[in-house]
Amino acid sequence: MKHLLTLCLSLALGFAALPARADEQAPLKIVTSFSILADMAKNVAGARGEVTTLVGPDADAHVFEPGPAHVAQLAEADVLIINGLGFEPWLVRLAASAKSKAKYVTASFGVNPLDLAAGAHDHGHAHDHDHDHGHGHGHDKDGYPKAPQDFDPHAWQDIRNGIVYVRNIAIALAEKDPANATLYEANAESYITELKKLDGWVRAEIGRLPKEKRKVITTHDAFAYFEKAYGVQFLSAAGVGNQGDPSAEALARLVDQMRAENIRALFMENMGNPRMMETIARETGVENGGTLYSDALSAPGGPAPTYVAMFRHNVPALIEAMQKN
Ligand SMILES: [Zn+2]
Repeated sequence: MKHLLTLCLSLALGFAALPARADEQAPLKIVTSFSILADMAKNVAGARGEVTTLVGPDADAHVFEPGPAHVAQLAEADVLIINGLGFEPWLVRLAASAKSKAKYVTASFGVNPLDLAAGAHDHGHAHDHDHDHGHGHGHDKDGYPKAPQDFDPHAWQDIRNGIVYVRNIAIALAEKDPANATLYEANAESYITELKKLDGWVRAEIGRLPKEKRKVITTHDAFAYFEKAYGVQFLSAAGVGNQGDPSAEALARLVDQMRAENIRALFMENMGNPRMMETIARETGVENGGTLYSDALSAPGGPAPTYVAMFRHNVPALIEAMQKN
């Protein structure tokens, strides 16, 4: 009798229809395409997010091949965060296999994307189209909007773009989980404050080095945004997509340029091809300057387990190596 009364009261007062209190709800299942986005999502979601990534630490998203475990991972997701700009060509098929109903967020939405065809980054990259070179961006020579793969995807290497990513993530989480919107906004704002400080620090550090010394050789063209934002010239042999070995000719050209310009700052990337850099080091007698983290973070105990730590690792390594130029 007492139970029945309680039940009737609950129904009459609408208890059953009330949502659980926000802090008692299960955390959002957030899946990101690669490790840098996972770190950003953790910063924004805090305890409200259970964040996993498809492409893990030290792994290369350009050549990622999803398996059944990734299908299962995505099938469960409430929110899916991707970079966009053609960085995840494997995603459409994966999302279809997973029958994903996740809220879909393109973190790079709103950044000013760099055109792959423009500028100095033309070392035989993976997106060799036949379009004109470098007259602004956004449209091809016939005036049609460009496809995502016409842009350089590595926008996160400019911290100001990273801030755009964080804002997009916060907006999406707030839309998916409005009860915690203020939490996501507050988390994002304090993280953005940290990122603005980081951006200033990178500028100040690079600024200490004479302009003519600011040249670096890396495995693939992951640093065009860094180059534009912070004034360091990056040269690579493998191009933007990091697919396959560069041609012998491209390598020879790079080695010639290193000799002609006396460039001694040479780096591996954590998800790149070490063999190629070993060849260049041997050819030029230049010592390897270490590892740059470009398209993936390190594992948690490593030197670059977060987006912030990635810059804190890369920038001093770059400066030390460029001093030898
Ligand atoms: Zn890349």
